[in-house]
Amino acid sequence: MLDFEFYSPEEEIALPFYGEYGVRVFVKRDDLIHPYISGNKWRKLKYPLQQAKEEEKSLLVTFGGAWSNHLLATACAGAKFGFRTYGFVRGEAIDNPVLTLCQLFGMELHFVDRESYRDKKGLFETYFASSEESYFIEEGGYGPLAAQGCSEITNELRRTYDHCFCACGTGTTLAGLAHGIANQQRATTLHGVPILKGGNFIRDEIAKLGVLNAVDICLHLDYHFGGYAKTKPELIEFIKTFTSQTSILIEPTYTGKLFYAVHDLIAQRQIAPGSTVLVVHSGGLTGLLGMLDKF
Ligand SMILES: *Cc1c(COP(=O)(O)O)cnc(C)c1O
Repeated sequence: MLDFEFYSPEEEIALPFYGEYGVRVFVKRDDLIHPYISGNKWRKLKYPLQQAKEEEKSLLVTFGGAWSNHLLATACAGAKFGFRTYGFVRGEAIDNPVLTLCQLFGMELHFVDRESYRDKKGLFETYFASSEESYFIEEGGYGPLAAQGCSEITNELRRTYDHCFCACGTGTTLAGLAHGIANQQRATTLHGVPILKGGNFIRDEIAKLGVLNAVDICLHLDYHFGGYAKTKPELIEFIKTFTSQTSILIEPTYTGKLFYAVHDLIAQRQIAPGSTVLVVHSGGLTGLLGMLDKF
């Protein structure tokens, strides 16, 4: 058995702004789980890595963009749990701090053009079909085993919240939370904040992960700030203010958009006074390394 012990407390954020609207906001500090196997990536890798061990695989093969938190998490988890790692990186060969860290953790990188990158199963077949030792992990860690890992967030909670918010890339974390809330029959409205444009596809993705209509899910489609890894001055200003007032670091790609959405929905009085809100901080702070010039 691999040892997946970690620490992720649940803290109240004492911002006067929340008090003015009569709302209490808590944060699940998954950002504290690990600096590089960060947040939801740790939870998403837990069961796939256990399966890989059971099947006696020794090489993890996965996929990501050049700033992918998932690639970095897989590289570091491989080093920690005794796997070699291989990452297909989308686009032309480049160098950046995240890819350097991936290589430091021992990951072999292989850049592929955007067209070939689309067919991930095909790439895996082409390069690894004949190798018994290799284990396929989907881009972003997407998949049912990953959702199972994320569902465990709800087991750890000390109270039942009226609302729970998370950022959505593939929707795996949201699907996991939905499973957890349904299993525990918690009376919580679940909110997803897609960080890509056109985030309605998340509904199909979470349906594929077996999420039925048992849980109320609201998707907030207007907080992508132009699309994946895109940002705007008001988002940067928000991040600066939030971090300086709370000590909780957030970044522009995921958690900045997430906390901005929560803030904005409270300001619009869409969260009723007296409500409790849990925001899942999904980590990913190394994303800041590519955005420092924005601040
Ligand atoms: C990868 C990532 C997400 C997206 O999670 P999904 O399960 O793919 O929706 C959210 N937040 C952070 C910080 C991430 O790194």
